[in-house]
Amino acid sequence: MTISGAAIVGGVCGQPIRHSMSPILHNAWIQAAGLDAAYVPFAPAADRFETFIDGLRGGAVRGLNVTIPFKERALARADTASDLARMAGAANLLIFNPDGSVHADNTDGPGLLSAIAIQAPGFDVAAAPVVILGAGGAARGAVAALLLAGALRVTVVNRTLARAQDLVDAFGTKVFAAAEAALPHLLAEAGLVINATSLGLGGGDGPAADLSRTPETAVVMDMVYKPLRTEFLQRARSTGRRAVDGLEMLLRQAEPSFEAIYGVAPPADVDVRAIALKLLGED
Ligand code: NAP
Repeated sequence: MTISGAAIVGGVCGQPIRHSMSPILHNAWIQAAGLDAAYVPFAPAADRFETFIDGLRGGAVRGLNVTIPFKERALARADTASDLARMAGAANLLIFNPDGSVHADNTDGPGLLSAIAIQAPGFDVAAAPVVILGAGGAARGAVAALLLAGALRVTVVNRTLARAQDLVDAFGTKVFAAAEAALPHLLAEAGLVINATSLGLGGGDGPAADLSRTPETAVVMDMVYKPLRTEFLQRARSTGRRAVDGLEMLLRQAEPSFEAIYGVAPPADVDVRAIALKLLGED
């Protein structure tokens, strides 16, 4: 691996960042592509995020992925933003232009759509209603991507109904809010059910939705990827539904980020899922 004075530098920024898989994945791609480049972790102090970003203006780094807790502040600090980042209300990618300006983008939503295309091939997001469990940042990004992909009806179900309603207010006519009590009826006609809550993270039960009520053709996705085989996805599989895991989403959001930072697509022959499974102790 060569890192010369002309190396392209990218990275990921979060707090904490120690457990991020992104440096290992991106550097595996850099190495396989033979690039003169590096991808490094940054953990700025929470109250210094804006100062940190401003210090990078003008090209100290080419691009930066952004993760918890900075995604909303990254969008706010940028000078321009993609439609997806604006709709999602958050950015997971900042590109630093030579003129000092910063452009915000969001690849989480495209990552979600790619994960569905890979693990549930042939699924059409426009064919049947979508039910999203949760109304936090991940849910908002998912709604944005699904609408841009042609979803006709997305219902957000959340423990705190007012938060789901806030999300709906930001999106307009194709998005609805519902209380958990409405789930049996919603599931009966759902084409896609997504867990975007933090339930199941670190083990334990996922959302208490009765997945056996969904049509047999329904696809069930869990954004949680630690553990990989969540209780929610195991329930989906045991009822015969196609399951899409959160790791695939995490891996697929990295691809457009890599291309935006380094100017080339990641080499297809690197098995990043195998690398990630090893890191998760799932190999
Ligand atoms: P967030 O903004 O903190 O939102 C958390 C959501 O979970 C809220 O809707 C919250 O409901 C709900 N929730 C939490 N505890 C609950 C409980 N005990 N019962 C019912 N609902 C509960 O988090 P986020 O950033 O949206 O992330 C959500 C999940 O997605 C996390 O597990 C995160 O790791 C995952 N994620 C994965 C990827 C990926 O690439 N795979 C990317 C982004 C996020 P209330 O509003 O009622 O509190």
